[in-house]
Amino acid sequence: MKFADLHLHTQFSDGTFTPEELAGQGARLGFAGMALTDHDSVEGCARMAAACAAAGIEFIVGAELTAEHQDTEVHILGYFLDPENQVLLKKIGKFQAVRQDRIREMVAALNKLGVPLKTESVFALANCKSPGRPHVARALVKEQLIGNLDEAFEKYLKKGRPAWVPKTKMSALEGVELIHQAGGLAVMAHPGLNRTDEIIPDLVDAGLDGIECFHTKHSTLLSQRYLEIADQFHLLVTGGSDCHGFSKGKPLIGGIKLPYEHVEKMKAKVAERKLATTNGHR
Ligand code: AMP
Ligand code: FE
Ligand code: FE
Ligand code: ZN
Repeated sequence: MKFADLHLHTQFSDGTFTPEELAGQGARLGFAGMALTDHDSVEGCARMAAACAAAGIEFIVGAELTAEHQDTEVHILGYFLDPENQVLLKKIGKFQAVRQDRIREMVAALNKLGVPLKTESVFALANCKSPGRPHVARALVKEQLIGNLDEAFEKYLKKGRPAWVPKTKMSALEGVELIHQAGGLAVMAHPGLNRTDEIIPDLVDAGLDGIECFHTKHSTLLSQRYLEIADQFHLLVTGGSDCHGFSKGKPLIGGIKLPYEHVEKMKAKVAERKLATTNGHR
């Protein structure tokens, strides 16, 4: 049976694998398809496409947009995006700048607490356009300013802790529209993690295409619940491991094997929409 992993991170956001390492892992595990979904970034997609092609794996361009709806954070996955779409690149560029400014603010807060971390250490370690709290945590560990990553989050970086800085996010509805205008499908990420089911109808009204039913942190019961919701709202079913490499213990890749029929359904919807657009109606 063919299967895919549609939720993966690399060093181009807060994962630890390079695209080549990730594709290698995918090949070892027998994946027929893989999508790269770095946070607010498509920076790694070109390399991932090449690495997947070399490994005989179908590659799907993706991104995981950090968004919000009614004051709750919601992650919107985009699939089959045009990685060169200028509106997409401009908009995510703005949020990458927000992330970079936030790193400066978190470091300033740490300095105020007497922790002598340098902004440059974090940026050097992150070495990507879309840095986040995990990079600050890793830099703290590297500079021996804290014992481990968990401690860094517990002591400084978790929401409400002294070096936590809120992040300006795009609205979820804006995220769905942004993905659509770049030719992609918009999918609600790990709904079981956020437990914000009440916002699903609003997202559906905005044109949401799918929902991530299968995810490492979804129990069988939760997956079942979201399969039912997908059915109810006529949404595509997706799934992925949300592997971040070695950043949170053992790599999660291999834990979710999405049957390929779901990828085929996604492709059919992309093709259908393209046809409708070229025929002058959407
Ligand atoms: P950010 O987008 O900068 O707010 O960082 C969010 C990322 O930090 C998530 O994608 C997780 O990978 C990671 N993260 C969040 N909370 C924790 C935690 N308590 N321990 C370790 N990693 C975390
Ligand atoms: Fe992450
Ligand atoms: Fe997420
Ligand atoms: Zn993710």
